[in-house]
Amino acid sequence: MEKAKKRKIGIIASVLLTILIIFGAIFATAVAATNARHEDTWKRVQRLGIIRWGVKADTRLFGLMNTKTAEPEGFDVDIAKALTIQMSRQSGVPMQADFTVVTSNTRIQLLKNANIDGFIATATITPEREKIIDFSDSYFRAGQSILVRRNSGIHSIRDLNNSRSTIIGVVGSNSVINVRKFAPKAHILALGDYGQAMAALRAGQGQALTTDNGILYGLATENPNYTVVGGTFTTEPYGIAYDNSQTEMVKQTNRALKTIIANGTYNRLIRKWFSNVPGLNWRTLEK
Ligand code: GLU
Repeated sequence: MEKAKKRKIGIIASVLLTILIIFGAIFATAVAATNARHEDTWKRVQRLGIIRWGVKADTRLFGLMNTKTAEPEGFDVDIAKALTIQMSRQSGVPMQADFTVVTSNTRIQLLKNANIDGFIATATITPEREKIIDFSDSYFRAGQSILVRRNSGIHSIRDLNNSRSTIIGVVGSNSVINVRKFAPKAHILALGDYGQAMAALRAGQGQALTTDNGILYGLATENPNYTVVGGTFTTEPYGIAYDNSQTEMVKQTNRALKTIIANGTYNRLIRKWFSNVPGLNWRTLEK
């Protein structure tokens, strides 16, 4: 064979080899990601000795970032810690709780990408969500309400059902979906998290902020010129979420939940987080 021809074949061969290596690497990465996504969560947390929980950082009382310690704090965070201890006992494998910040809008995607094992993040168990993720038994019952400026003249969601009103909420929460049924004529302004939503309310970009009553009471404690009005107009049972088909993880969670309720841990946490919240009857939250 001529030299030039040989060289040509050599170049083509090395190009093909490079392409093969690149595709191989892409394929291997995809397989690894798929495996991580489909590995049984209960097996994974025991193998790694860690449960990676998604929790809120924008939601006082449930999950709020303590800027001094850089640790999230709240009822959901404490429930995650208590469940981790209890699930370690159940399995005999020491496990630690690790926290990743989620928002209403990112929590399901982070779960689907296997960035977290589960989330405890003020999430309502809804039939739509149950199609794509698994939930534990309900661990908390909330209801949707509205937060308005004191003496605003707004007494309930009905007062906002007109085209002059804008109701502020958060993307990814079911509150912004539910509210359309109760005030179909109002405009909705959906923002990225509860910090931004509260800032928009204070700036007068809307007349009310809507989400669950517990979250609104949390916002009201740091914004005394604002108040929760009109009671609740939905029921929001919160669940602990995992990717779909995580049957054993859900079973272990429900077992751990029953234990922390029976041994008084649950009610101690209800008292810790909700007994000093004005307007909230924390006794009704006890189990
Ligand atoms: N519980 C409602 C939900 O799951 C609202 C609270 C939130 O935004 O997390 O969408």
